[in-house]
Amino acid sequence: MKYTICVLPGDGIGPEIVAQAVRVLHRVGEVFGHEFVCATHLIGGAAIDATGGPLPEATLAAAKASDAVLLGAVGGPKWDAIDKAIRPEKGLLGIRKELGLFANLRPARLFPELAASCCLRPDIVGQGLDVMVVRELTGGAYFGQPRGEEVRGGERVALNTMIYSESEIRRIARVGFETARKRNGKLCSVDKANVLEVSQLWREVVIEEAANHPDVELSHMYVDNAAMQLVRAPSQFDVIVTENLFGDILSDEAAIITGSIGMLPSASLGASGPGLYEPIHGSAPDIAGKDLANPLATILSVSMMFVHSFGLTDEAAAVDKAVAEVLGEGYRTGDIMGTGDGAGLTRVGCVEMGGLVVGRIRN
Ligand code: NAD
Repeated sequence: MKYTICVLPGDGIGPEIVAQAVRVLHRVGEVFGHEFVCATHLIGGAAIDATGGPLPEATLAAAKASDAVLLGAVGGPKWDAIDKAIRPEKGLLGIRKELGLFANLRPARLFPELAASCCLRPDIVGQGLDVMVVRELTGGAYFGQPRGEEVRGGERVALNTMIYSESEIRRIARVGFETARKRNGKLCSVDKANVLEVSQLWREVVIEEAANHPDVELSHMYVDNAAMQLVRAPSQFDVIVTENLFGDILSDEAAIITGSIGMLPSASLGASGPGLYEPIHGSAPDIAGKDLANPLATILSVSMMFVHSFGLTDEAAAVDKAVAEVLGEGYRTGDIMGTGDGAGLTRVGCVEMGGLVVGRIRN
């Protein structure tokens, strides 16, 4: 089969990590007999420098015409002070909106090989850590109107609007139920229904939708409690479904307790059309250009692309297995060296880590 992939390296470490993920794509193509045609386009700060805006028309057109989009990261200090209307993140928010990517799937899984990097006590993660956060991505306070800053009574005020329609809640709830059904059948809907009307509607609609998924065990949790429970007893969770802002915070929390942000992939999906796959971390300007970045989150994002966009589950398993093998053999980028003395571990750079994974992909 032939697949067209729109590749958006972006800024900072983006080009370095994406280059390794593209090597993995081509290796999988070779081994399994697929053709992955990769076309690289600009987004974020790199696009601002070249075209004056963070999401050029050509990028958007290529993304829409592709079978899937692979993204690195956007942003960096160089663009921190520019006009808010064209900041690098606008490129990311814009492409999510334009592709209708309303569902963000973020698995937070602790590789047993990386238990030493985990921030939680061994007795807490002894029961395992494997949580999937399903975050609503195109609604809530990030997009709600009215928004802005103005002067009221002689002082500056700023406002955002957290707003959800029934249909927006229903479609993400369905993704949550379907995801739970494919895993361990447990869905926890996170809201703030004790305070927010938008959360009360959220809860009502999720409960209505539960009637269509009787095989999934549904629970509800307030977001403040969920933040606490994720560090107190993370193994109680299977799938969490929540709105945009809560999901942004909880998915980072779920991610970081596994040890390194450099290990965690994500998938953003719409009702149809190409999905977008990216690591959850940012552009890490502090280590950009130094061959220090961990490419595994981006490589594991390719694995998610195989599952969610192409239905290539054997190919995804081959990538996951290659990553586990490399970790099992003791290879580590700096971020996953752990706090011990490093005995038995070999420190490698971004390019070498990519090559190690490529070398272990087998059918
Ligand atoms: P960050 O994720 O870029 O970095 C946080 C820390 O994690 C840094 O110490 C960094 O070196 C480290 N890190 C991140 N990814 C790593 C990797 N693959 N390997 C090894 N170490 C890694 O977050 P930040 O510092 O808050 O933001 C930096 C820039 O990235 C900002 O401009 C921010 O706006 C942008 N950002 C972009 C995205 C995105 O593109 N999706 C997400 C978050 C932040």
